[in-house]
Amino acid sequence: MKIESKLPSVGTTIFTVMSALAEAHGAINLGQGFPDFDCDRRLVDAVTEAMTAGHNQYPPMAGVAALREAIARKIHAIHTVSYDPATEVTVTAGATQALLTALLAVVRAGDEVIVIEPVYDSYIPGIELAGGRAVTVPMTADYRIDWDRVEAAASPATRAIMINSPHNPTGTVIDAADVERLAALAERHDLVVISDEVYEHMVFDGVAHRSLAAHPALRERSFVISSFGKTFHVTGWKVGYCVAPAALMTEFRKVHQFNVFTVNTPMQVGLASYLEDPGPYLGLADFYQARRDRFLAGLAATALRARPCEGTYFVVCDYSAISDLGDADFCRWLTETIGVAAVPVSAFRSDSRDERRIRFCFAKREETLDAALARLARLGDTG
Ligand code: PMP
Ligand code: GLN
Repeated sequence: MKIESKLPSVGTTIFTVMSALAEAHGAINLGQGFPDFDCDRRLVDAVTEAMTAGHNQYPPMAGVAALREAIARKIHAIHTVSYDPATEVTVTAGATQALLTALLAVVRAGDEVIVIEPVYDSYIPGIELAGGRAVTVPMTADYRIDWDRVEAAASPATRAIMINSPHNPTGTVIDAADVERLAALAERHDLVVISDEVYEHMVFDGVAHRSLAAHPALRERSFVISSFGKTFHVTGWKVGYCVAPAALMTEFRKVHQFNVFTVNTPMQVGLASYLEDPGPYLGLADFYQARRDRFLAGLAATALRARPCEGTYFVVCDYSAISDLGDADFCRWLTETIGVAAVPVSAFRSDSRDERRIRFCFAKREETLDAALARLARLGDTG
């Protein structure tokens, strides 16, 4: 039997494809974004204790109360903004589910949603599954949001805009001027904002993360989404959250209750107690900045040209001095021949525009990064 595809142009995600290729060729996997080191033992212990203590049945639909309270406290401590854990915080099965749930709650047939390209791979399929149409706006050459183009893309059909800062894959972060332009635009067109802040604790060089939650006007029209997978080195746990004003969250929960109903209990209980210590997430920027600096220093000795990385655990490199291959072919060649996997940046564009750039993930042990750099040093020989 054959059904008409709801996502005819979608294949398997590039992250899955590159991880499989890396495995097949024994390559060092700097493609898909995940750490190759373990999480804090205390977090595992907290979850284990929760299971042993019998926290093994359905939690409340919106999430374990203690975790929602801990999330609200964390946001208040950092951004001095309040979210009511009872009505404005929902625990989700990772950020991916939160993003799709927000889209399904907001977007109606024919609505337009603005996305900025390069764009994380789940956004456009999510918009389409909700019946909407993605309107793509390219970033500037140095990967800043081009607000004049964003404004030109807005129309009476525009229902929402999706923002991702710190930005995957480019590693750029928005600044105060970006937030003001967004606020003015969202106000003028009465837009809902879906803000993907999964890398919120990975902003470097002493710069503060600008959460849209911290902007009073944007707070009132935004779904702000994050992921414990990124913050606590547990991407396989798939636990994240969404915060939004009560009226928006009511609609979000209507969808949430019918696509997951709720998220696994013991991890929520464990995360709630682990969050009592802000040390792990407040120390994350320094932790990753050291890895970024080590990786960038190593890359400088190769024929790759790395772009600046202000946040996230990704760095984009230009390889045009080395090869005329397209970026997908270059990633394949790099994996198979050099033994290091990366992700082509064109995979983050709806038109697959190829700028001869690839993305590496540096959320790896120092020895992994050093081993990858030793292999990448061979690139100079190719020409
Ligand atoms: N948004 C962005 C920008 C991401 O990079 C990722 C995952 N790497 C996600 C969302 C999804 O996060 P999760 O694994 O919590 O679903
Ligand atoms: N978000 C991660 C990345 O950008 C991967 C997550 C996934 O495989 N869907 O690499």
